[in-house]
Amino acid sequence: MKTVYTFISSPNHVYPDHPERPGRFDLLAPRLKSFEAELIQTKPATREEIAYVHHPQLVSAVEKVCREQAPGIIDYAPTYVTPSSFEDALLAAGGVITCTQAVLNGEANNAFAIIRPPGHHAEPERAMGFCIFNNVAIAARQALTNGMERVAIIDYDAHHGNGTQAAFLDEERVAFLSAHQWGIYPGTGWIEDAPQAKKRIVNVPLPAYAGDKVYEQVVEKIFIPFVEAFKPQMIFVSVGFDAHWSDPITMLGLSTAGYFRLAKKVMALAEEYCDGKIVFVLEGGYDPTNVANGVGAVFAAATGKGEFDANDPNPHKEPDCESRIAEIRQWHGFQPQ
Ligand SMILES: [Zn+2]
Repeated sequence: MKTVYTFISSPNHVYPDHPERPGRFDLLAPRLKSFEAELIQTKPATREEIAYVHHPQLVSAVEKVCREQAPGIIDYAPTYVTPSSFEDALLAAGGVITCTQAVLNGEANNAFAIIRPPGHHAEPERAMGFCIFNNVAIAARQALTNGMERVAIIDYDAHHGNGTQAAFLDEERVAFLSAHQWGIYPGTGWIEDAPQAKKRIVNVPLPAYAGDKVYEQVVEKIFIPFVEAFKPQMIFVSVGFDAHWSDPITMLGLSTAGYFRLAKKVMALAEEYCDGKIVFVLEGGYDPTNVANGVGAVFAAATGKGEFDANDPNPHKEPDCESRIAEIRQWHGFQPQ
C-alpha cells in the first residue's frame, strides 16, 4: 500500500484579513513528514489541462488581472488575486493532476493533493468563492482522457461544490455528490438542483450542527447507493475541513474522528468499486488546527490505520436529519436498504 501527496502552499497567494491564507497550513507543514506518505513533485498544469474544464477566455482573463491589476478582489465572496496567483493556481491544479497520474499509472495506491488556492466553487466560465481554477474537476477530466470511463467525485467540504456540479451537469461519465451546510455560500446545492441527472448529481443540504452521527447516516443511506448506482472506476474526494464544528466561517459539526471515519468509508467504497483508486483533494478549512488534524485523519485512513482522533468532539446537539435523508433518497429513487 503506497500513499503519495503533493503539497502546494502558495505562500504569495495571500490577502489582508482573508481566511483563505497560507497560515491555514502553519500547523500542518511541520507534521507532514510524520505521515507514512511520500511527497511527490508537482508540475504546473498546462493551459490545455485547465481548458479541460474552463473557457480559454477565463484563463486569459485571470492571467491578465494577475499581471495588470493585482493585488485585488475579483468577486464578491471575496476572491482575491495577487501577482503570483495565476502561477499558484496552475501549480495547485498541477498538484491534483500529478496525484491522479500517480494513481492511474500504478505508482501509488492512493493520493492526497494538499493544495491552495482551492477549486470547487470555480465554474467553467468564472473564478469564485476563494477558488480560481477547479482543481478536482480538471483532474477528473484528466482521468477520463487517460482511460477511465466513469469517475465519481464526493465533496464533503462545508460548502456546496457548485463549480464541480456546473462542470459535469451534462457529462454522463462523471457523477457528483456534495454534502454541505444548507443556506450558506454559494446558495446552491438544494436537493432538486439537477433534475436531469438524478442519481448522478446528488446534493445533500444539511442543517447547522449536523455532525459525526448525521454524516454516518448520510454515508450509509446516500454515499453507498450513489456509488453502487454509478459504479465508478475511480473516486475523487473534495475534502474541506470547514465542516469541523469549530471552523470560523461555517456551522457544521464534524469532529476529527468523524473526518477519519468518513475517509475510511470512501476508501472502502474505492476498494469495493475502483480497485482502491482514490484521490483526496483539499478544498476549504480555515482553522489551522483542524486542517492539520483533518489531513492527519485522511492520511491515517489512506495508509490503513485503524483509528485517528484528536479528542475534539462536537459540543453541539446534532439535529435529526432522518426525514431530509429520506427525502433525498426518494428524489433520486435510491432503493430501500
Ligand atoms: Zn468550504
